[in-house]
Amino acid sequence: MSEQYKIDQMLSVEDARARILNQIDLAPVEKIGLALSFSRVLAQDIISDVDIAPFENSAMDGFALRFADVAGASETGPVTLEIVGVLGAGAVYEGKIAGGQALRIMTGAPLPAGADTVIKIEDTQVLGESAALPAGAQVLISQQPKQGANVRPRGEEALKGDVLLRSGDRISIAGVGLLASTGHTEVLVYRRPRVAILATGSELVEVSEMPGPGQIRNSNSYTLAAAVTDAGGLATLSAHVDDSREAFGAALLDAVKDHDLVVLSGGAAEGDFDYTTALVRELGELCFNRVNMRPGKAQTYGLIQDTPIFGLPGNPAAAAVGFELLVRPAIRKMLGFSALMRPQTEAVVSEDIIKKEPRRHYLRAHLSKQADGSFMVTPSKSQSSALLGALNESDCLLIVPEGLEGLRAGATARCLRIDLPEGALL
Ligand code: AMP
Ligand code: MG
Repeated sequence: MSEQYKIDQMLSVEDARARILNQIDLAPVEKIGLALSFSRVLAQDIISDVDIAPFENSAMDGFALRFADVAGASETGPVTLEIVGVLGAGAVYEGKIAGGQALRIMTGAPLPAGADTVIKIEDTQVLGESAALPAGAQVLISQQPKQGANVRPRGEEALKGDVLLRSGDRISIAGVGLLASTGHTEVLVYRRPRVAILATGSELVEVSEMPGPGQIRNSNSYTLAAAVTDAGGLATLSAHVDDSREAFGAALLDAVKDHDLVVLSGGAAEGDFDYTTALVRELGELCFNRVNMRPGKAQTYGLIQDTPIFGLPGNPAAAAVGFELLVRPAIRKMLGFSALMRPQTEAVVSEDIIKKEPRRHYLRAHLSKQADGSFMVTPSKSQSSALLGALNESDCLLIVPEGLEGLRAGATARCLRIDLPEGALL
């Protein structure tokens, strides 16, 4: 490849990410059904249209009564009340509880007029056959409840007009319930980015095929599709293309048509058949193609017809790490998330780490807890960017900063927690 296609400057991961995020906009909003809303990011505030709960109600199965009647009740001085009825959730007691009366009440049923306290069934004794309820039955109370016990106030969760969820919030499991409680059959969220996945390499065959001489299966497209799904995007897999500039260029132009992002793997370096950088430059605008990281310095980013293109390396672990560091934050930004980065943990390095070169290393590694509660981090045995197994067993990427020659056993390192969501507190 001729020199004119090279941008020699090697950006830091932070610079590269900042350039990307600068060019990434929020996805357009869409209206979706409540049942599909889990984990999406709200593009509207959610305001309660009712009081929740809409009425004062019982927190227990028990008896609703007037506190004054049972004040001072004890084992030695129990109080007997007349049971005036049975009230289940969903029904309303039309009468008023008078002195000396109690209403058998179930959890969630509205507190009847006159009553101010519920005593739970376990703390009472119904006299005679319970089958005889309510006519003439009596209940014995031999302990004094707290005044107002087991009464849930109206509006305990929210009052009509309260803002319960805000634009930019991820809809949690409980959030889905709040949407339901407030009558939101549909909700405005940011659209999931449509991400085209493309792989290039003349050695690639489909997963269903047995590789012939010199061939390997295309694993990257599937790894990257999973990563897109995990980040909240919608992945579309295209058939892989040979290392032909024409075929690859045509596939790229096709991919940008109906997608918000294109993620491709392979052809990103400077081999004789690596066309990613050249094609992004020719068909659009190249932003960068080298990042100070290992694995995978050959990270290309640019725009074709205003669509962001991420050219990840072909080596599977390098592609996955590049996705994690550069693509995932972009997808999250489009989705409306405010937290774009996963947390980092400090951990004691278990063994000497010698760097092979000055670039910043992201070693596939796993954490363990030491006796004092602090973390220890152990890098995987093989750090080859060709291997997925080490990444599969990792819960973090151990960062060995640029400049350093390595880290000694016992030193403290920062670890990017790929096992935790963005915004998680440690
Ligand atoms: P490249 O970036 O095209 O130079 O590829 C680097 C290495 O990654 C080579 O060993 C490729 O065979 C391998 N590779 C490229 N694309 C894929 C893919 N889609 N799935 C698995 N391995 C790949
Ligand atoms: Mg290749």
